[in-house]
Amino acid sequence: MSLEAVDLLLTDSCKKEPCPWCISVRKDEEEVPFKANGQKRVNWLRLIGLFPSLGINRVICSGGEPRKLGPKFYELINTAAQNNMYVTVSTAIFPQEGDELLTSMQQSKKILVGLPLDGSTPEMCGLMRGEGEGNRFASNLHGLKVLQGLDLLDRVTLRTVVARPNFSNVLEIPAMLLNNGIELFKLRWKLYQVNPLGVHKDEYDKWLIHTLDFMRIISRLKDIKEMGEITTLPVLAADRHHLIINSQGNANMVEMEGWLKEWPDIPSLRYRRLGNVNNEGMEQIIQRFRGIR
Ligand code: SF4
Repeated sequence: MSLEAVDLLLTDSCKKEPCPWCISVRKDEEEVPFKANGQKRVNWLRLIGLFPSLGINRVICSGGEPRKLGPKFYELINTAAQNNMYVTVSTAIFPQEGDELLTSMQQSKKILVGLPLDGSTPEMCGLMRGEGEGNRFASNLHGLKVLQGLDLLDRVTLRTVVARPNFSNVLEIPAMLLNNGIELFKLRWKLYQVNPLGVHKDEYDKWLIHTLDFMRIISRLKDIKEMGEITTLPVLAADRHHLIINSQGNANMVEMEGWLKEWPDIPSLRYRRLGNVNNEGMEQIIQRFRGIR
């Protein structure tokens, strides 16, 4: 299997109440697909140094919240970019003036940022990601303006999870951005069909939407004339070529195990454990990944 990118879950922490689809932060220990308490943490800098020789030229840094790693985080992304790798920082904290992430982005064109926006109002964002997200709505918008002011908007991917609560509201997001002076055509926008996981796995009726409905929303968004590039991740394609490594070194890939009984157009997904980078070494894990058909 070809390897398009490696997801690095740099931290296991984000907020108290994780989003229902979050793969890296769980309330319930048993539901953490990667967790193995007591294991040695990964030396990310060393790992990143190995990647180019293993043919990997793109990493996605997420967390939980990757920026919770502190000053080491910036050393890591700057080093990856100097090693000629593309780095996407998937953060829920929109960069504001003076933010170190902005400095890194200005220093290297290889550093990109993925930011969540699940609704056109604070209430809708709060409904999707919890109270704090709603309160942050104004600063999120301001963060986008700051990026635009520095001419960095074309390195932003907005990430929107499309679920039952925001199903029709997603169509309001473009007008909201335009009304706030955001140059929509410069943005990349990635939309995900929600895939409830872990403790929320039984909440399909609360979150899930059918694939066809998801695609209908996308086609209406694509009709908007000011729209930039749109990409999508339907659950059907969620097992595409991603190797995920968590902070304890456990390496997993997502794969399809079958179809949901009550939702026959939706695949059920599981994690395939490929090993631990601290024990088996990165070369071995990559060989295993590439050997899977
Ligand atoms: S904001 Fe992102 S990292 Fe944090 S809980 Fe939600 S999906 Fe997970």
